Amino acid sequence: MSLCVLLVEDDRELRATLSEALRVEGYYVLAAASLADARALLANAGANGGVHIVLLDLGLPDGDGESLLVALRQGRGIPVIVISARETEDPKIRLLDAGADDYLVKPFPLGELLARMRVALRHRGTATERAVTRYTQGDLLIDLRAHRVQRGGEDVHLTPTEFKLLARLVRSAGQVVTHRQLLADVWGAEFTEHTHYLRLYMGQLRAKLEADAADPRRLLTEPGLGYRLVESED
Ligand code: CA
Repeated sequence: MSLCVLLVEDDRELRATLSEALRVEGYYVLAAASLADARALLANAGANGGVHIVLLDLGLPDGDGESLLVALRQGRGIPVIVISARETEDPKIRLLDAGADDYLVKPFPLGELLARMRVALRHRGTATERAVTRYTQGDLLIDLRAHRVQRGGEDVHLTPTEFKLLARLVRSAGQVVTHRQLLADVWGAEFTEHTHYLRLYMGQLRAKLEADAADPRRLLTEPGLGYRLVESED
């Protein structure tokens, strides 16, 4: 069974181009040009196995895509990738905190969209079926269950907080995790403004896990948003 994508995009040309490209990749595509279309397609699709992932534009003729995001997150937990022309960081953070899985600013390369879709789908699937506990990337191996981190075959010793932060990123590998989400999950809800903790601990993790801490290739900064651990090769 092919996976069903709901593409919500009012730009006719982009909608047609993306629909075609996604079909070539083997997705079954439902395309909506408005919030009303999207809601109708979601309601109908529910009876036919449902929608597996939503690509959501924000500026739509009958409202803001954000309202659909909120409704989707309260419902069946379908992964949502926001595709928007808005580049300011504030809404990005709000949307990610509100539960969007990822955010792409138009124009974006198709390959990037497909990669983010695979991550969002896998992440959602593993979140319900089995937790992500293993991560490999080059000479780095992280085994959360065994509480072990190795680089080039040598054990890397992490402090409990470093390990907790790394584990949070491993569970969302390939996805951006906002400062707020990291602070809340690792330190607690009352620490969500303490972004200097993140800078400190990410610096420590990079010193231990990157070949060159000043030029990180694994623990990436998403400016103004948060951090992304690159996808596992597992
Ligand atoms: Ca639009």
